[in-house]
Amino acid sequence: MDDCIFCNIVKGEIPSDKILENENFLAFLDIHPEVEGHTLVVPKEHFETILDFDSSLSKELIDFIKEVYEILKKKFNSTGFNLVQNNFKSAGQIVDHIHFHILPRRDNDSRVLSLK
Ligand code: AMP
Ligand code: ZN
Repeated sequence: MDDCIFCNIVKGEIPSDKILENENFLAFLDIHPEVEGHTLVVPKEHFETILDFDSSLSKELIDFIKEVYEILKKKFNSTGFNLVQNNFKSAGQIVDHIHFHILPRRDNDSRVLSLK
């Protein structure tokens, strides 16, 4: 997908602040962070939403998210995290390459994430 921003980040054609990478996934800092350490996890292959994501990668995805959080926990002294994933425009998806937001949280950080 030549015109996909996250495919271009995966290819290294657009710079990113990488947190972790393996054969199938990449984690990098969100350019407009909602909280300190706001990170995006993407599969390297282009899937638009969770509906077309290859389910056989699910275990690897969860293991990768756990590994990314261990890094963020140390780097940003967080004590918890929110995992957010938007599908389709009406639900707030702006980039049409599936991605998982990891939002590191701290005790009493007073950040309220609305589900509205
Ligand atoms: P969503 O609304 O779930 O599609 O989220 C897309 C996210 O991608 C937003 O939080 C953007 O700030 C983030 N984003 C867009 N372009 C870039 C980029 N070049 N590098 C890092 N994050 C980006
Ligand atoms: Zn893509």
